[in-house]
Amino acid sequence: MQKMEKILEVKNISKKYQSKEGEIQALNNVNFRVKSGEFISIIGPSGCGKSTLLKIIANVLEPSFGDAYINEQNYKESEALVSEMVSLVHQDTFIFNDTIENNIRLYQDYSATEFDNAISIATLKEKLKERIQSDCSEGGGSLSGGEKQRIAIARAILRNSPVLLLDEITSALDQFTAKTIVGNIFAMKEKTIVFVTHKMETDFLKRADCIICMNQGMIIEFGTWRELIKEKGYFYKLYVAEQE
Ligand code: ADP
Repeated sequence: MQKMEKILEVKNISKKYQSKEGEIQALNNVNFRVKSGEFISIIGPSGCGKSTLLKIIANVLEPSFGDAYINEQNYKESEALVSEMVSLVHQDTFIFNDTIENNIRLYQDYSATEFDNAISIATLKEKLKERIQSDCSEGGGSLSGGEKQRIAIARAILRNSPVLLLDEITSALDQFTAKTIVGNIFAMKEKTIVFVTHKMETDFLKRADCIICMNQGMIIEFGTWRELIKEKGYFYKLYVAEQE
């Protein structure tokens, strides 16, 4: 697919949370656009607002100010479209008391080929071959963190929505598995991907069409890997710090 039309846009997004200690400004006037088929990475330290931003794009959280758009339509008027087009994979995967297969299918009617493809991409096919029909306990006590993460990835692939929002998906995976899964996801050229990380994941960041650097609720820099390294700004400092 050609990287042409704008699929996502956030305009002047701010988010404040109320906490016991007072107001927390998690996002402060964030703006960016994503074209169809692009791979965007958002990087920044813990607490800088990455998850909050991704939740707003996934429409599971409302901004305090500003608007999000999908295919040029405001989220406020297109809830069904957003839910059809966007899938969020985050770190807390909900597992319920049923088979692993049903935990992935979520009782929807997908073909065996579609299911097979999703579990292959999530590298679950070999790993859970014998266990795919076995029951999970509520909360997934019998599964490792990495297995739960892969179930969440397989669910999102099976939904087949054009936009995938990936929030720190590599955190529960070993390096080899993370590389394989992210490679499989990137190979789906038609997908638009927003990949959030707090780590300098060089392999993945080098492949991004745009890296968005955040700090304290704001976008402070953006560009490709080469551009940001050349610029010797915030991203470069993060990179150098990680090398040392
Ligand atoms: P990141 O994903 O970059 O680690 P978050 O979006 O999770 O950042 O958090 C941004 C800021 O908002 C942090 O200061 C965090 O403590 C705060 N925050 C996040 N969620 C809530 C919430 N539900 N209630 C109050 N404060 C929150």
